[in-house]
Amino acid sequence: MRGLIIGRFQPFHLGHLSVIKKIADECDTIVIGIGSAQHSHTLENPFAAGERYLMISKTLKKEKNLSYYIVPVEDVNRYDVWVSHVEALVPPFDVVYTNNPLTKRLFLEKEYRVKGMPMYDRKIYSGREIRKKMWRDENWKKLIPKQVAEVINEIDGVKRLKTLIKTDIHVPENKVAGLMFEKNIKISVAESCTGGLLSHLLTNVPDSSRYFMGGRIVYSDNAKKMLGVSEKTIEAFGSVSPQVSLELAKKIREKNSTDIGIGITGFAGPSGDVGKVYIALISEKEKICKSFKFNGSREEIKERTTEEALKILKKYLEKI
Ligand code: ATP
Ligand code: MG
Repeated sequence: MRGLIIGRFQPFHLGHLSVIKKIADECDTIVIGIGSAQHSHTLENPFAAGERYLMISKTLKKEKNLSYYIVPVEDVNRYDVWVSHVEALVPPFDVVYTNNPLTKRLFLEKEYRVKGMPMYDRKIYSGREIRKKMWRDENWKKLIPKQVAEVINEIDGVKRLKTLIKTDIHVPENKVAGLMFEKNIKISVAESCTGGLLSHLLTNVPDSSRYFMGGRIVYSDNAKKMLGVSEKTIEAFGSVSPQVSLELAKKIREKNSTDIGIGITGFAGPSGDVGKVYIALISEKEKICKSFKFNGSREEIKERTTEEALKILKKYLEKI
């Protein structure tokens, strides 16, 4: 009987090895699909398919009597054809081993036998956790087979991850995150018209808790007042005004005791001076406020605003 397991193996760890050994008790041959094979050099997928191939094959060489195939499987971003895509690439298999509910569903629909696998100390043995430990210089080697550590060493994998965290594929938030890591800067944000989008982007970066302390969505006037913006300022200048964006930045910075506070207020539409936005940045020494006038839908205005906020932040971080 041939059993299939598909994973990204970024990197191949002891959890994966334990699962493969379990499958070997039930199957005479194991088909190992390396998923997302087209990806490499990103934080989620730092290692290329060939490198992952090497990690797995070197480790399994030690497992005498284990018969297996390793096949890279690129993504097809259409779930309805995914199983056929896998079938076209790998040797025929009788049973699929997975804990992923969607993978399970897709193979069940094609009438495969699907089996779950017991999780082997998932808190520690997870690719994401191991990648995190790698760029933090924590002890990651004990979580992976020795042969995998050798491959990572050979390709200078830790340095790659550390570079990626600063430069990953032109993503502005990664660039900003890298600068904040490097300069040990902490940030908090108060967002009105962007509805939390800036906080979302800033927390998309792994390990963002090291610099992102908190965000508040201060959508209504009342929410702005609750953060500490004075009623007078709102009455005198209106809630979409440079004064309010600056007060938002100041108050959120104080409340969270961060180096930087960002305040955003604007009209995303349909009413008001649609597209008018103010973005403020306050630090101990700086007080920046920029005004913008964007065109587009509500969503586009939100996106353009966060892009500009990240630019302001980047410029500031590069300067200090
Ligand atoms: P990432 O955190 O990057 O998603 P991962 O550790 O989940 O990595 P994958 O390559 O996504 O690894 O997983 C491949 C397969 O291995 C999945 O079916 C997953 O459920 C299984 N697996 C991952 N970790 C363990 C573990 N600790 N014990 C048992 N099975 C595991
Ligand atoms: Mg996973």
